[in-house]
Amino acid sequence: KYQSLPYRRVLEIYQQHLSPMQTAYFPQPLLLHQGHMEWLFDHEGNRYLDFFSGIVTISVGHCHPKVNAAAGKQLGRLWHTSAVFFHPQIHEYAEKLSALLPEPLKVIFLTNSGSEANDLAMLMARAHSKNTHIISFRGAYHGSSPHTHDLSNVGPFKMTLPGGVGCQSTMCPDVFRGPWGGSHCRDSPVQTIRKCSCAPDCCQAKDQYIEQFKDTLNTSVAKSIAGFFAEPIQGVNGVVQYPKGFLKEAFELVRERGGVCIADEVQTGFGRLGSHFWGFETHGVLPDIVTMAKGIGNGFPMAAVVTTAEIAKSLAKCVLHFNTFGGNPMACSIGSAVLEVIKEENLQENSREVGTYMLLKFAKLRDEFEIIGDVRGKGLMIGIEMVKDKTSRQPLPREEVNQIHEDCRHMGLLVGRGGVFSQTFRVVPPLCVTKPEVDFAVEVFRAAVIQHMERRAK
Ligand code: PMP
Repeated sequence: KYQSLPYRRVLEIYQQHLSPMQTAYFPQPLLLHQGHMEWLFDHEGNRYLDFFSGIVTISVGHCHPKVNAAAGKQLGRLWHTSAVFFHPQIHEYAEKLSALLPEPLKVIFLTNSGSEANDLAMLMARAHSKNTHIISFRGAYHGSSPHTHDLSNVGPFKMTLPGGVGCQSTMCPDVFRGPWGGSHCRDSPVQTIRKCSCAPDCCQAKDQYIEQFKDTLNTSVAKSIAGFFAEPIQGVNGVVQYPKGFLKEAFELVRERGGVCIADEVQTGFGRLGSHFWGFETHGVLPDIVTMAKGIGNGFPMAAVVTTAEIAKSLAKCVLHFNTFGGNPMACSIGSAVLEVIKEENLQENSREVGTYMLLKFAKLRDEFEIIGDVRGKGLMIGIEMVKDKTSRQPLPREEVNQIHEDCRHMGLLVGRGGVFSQTFRVVPPLCVTKPEVDFAVEVFRAAVIQHMERRAK
């Protein structure tokens, strides 16, 4: 047990002094004290299997010994800002990160958060294209600065105050909720057991969504497209996948009109999708700008924008970009250790193998229960969308999803939530998770759904 402020006092301080928007997630908020790899411990010593990873932030495991050692070493050597002087940690990190990206994505800008990274990417797109408008999907989440708020279009994150300018949303080609269905899963193992109600040929649906996309390009922003942002799989919106081939065609259309294409890898990068290190690779596209955060520092505040030398030059012509802490020696030491651990422990492959195993297990539950409408995702990024019934696909009411969520917590499993109606469970464990832990998680989730069905029947 950890001795600190009593739980009651923590709640009082939260109510009196902290932002009312700091999400507590459960009616009785969880007070965490310790983490180890894929496990978390609360103030009473209860243990939880962490299948949300601090919103997809813990990549290699809580308090990973190698990452902690790198942080401790740098802590005792030098803390400093990133600007003004040179620090070898930054240069070593830049070399390691750039080696993981294809040509010509070789110029790195380091920031502290995903929002900052996406802000900078917006600036680059405008500086390079000399245009204004940036397009993003409905359902996208790209950050919480005034500019990225405008790019974000998911539920309560859509800002109602004037923020940035020149952002335009376009239909999200969501194969589960979208009007034309479609399939992202032709080469997914889940296909074999999926009762897929989408069009037999996913390309047909993709073409319909592309027509919609063209409509946005031709009517709303025809004369001034600066860029197009896309997450390879939408995270906050509930692990939403697009029809196969959509992004490739969308990128071509944007480029034909003078815009640049930006992949937001904040949740999908660093091997989480298993088959590839970056999410954009799973779509067979090459973006002009890639943004990354969260898993990059295994929970330490750190983020990056990677782009081409040409785009970096365009930015330099417009502004002297400066960031006091972005890429400071502490962050870079940690970032380097994270990259080493991913490689040494073969975590991308673990993500592929254990993720596929997990996808298949949850897909079986989808076939068993009427209220599990869809199971989707790739690697260790899985979404379980809850519905009233499979025919209507109406979202399961929020209170019912809350109850299942709460029951999982009481049985020792933490999962995330997502989607406009908060109807989708997000299952995104640290990349070091094992198959027995997945078995435990699936059993807990199944038990929570059964409890729910029993309550409903009463
Ligand atoms: N992009 C995506 C895809 C995200 O999920 C998030 C955070 N949820 C951000 C950007 C913003 O990152 P940050 O909270 O570090 O500013």
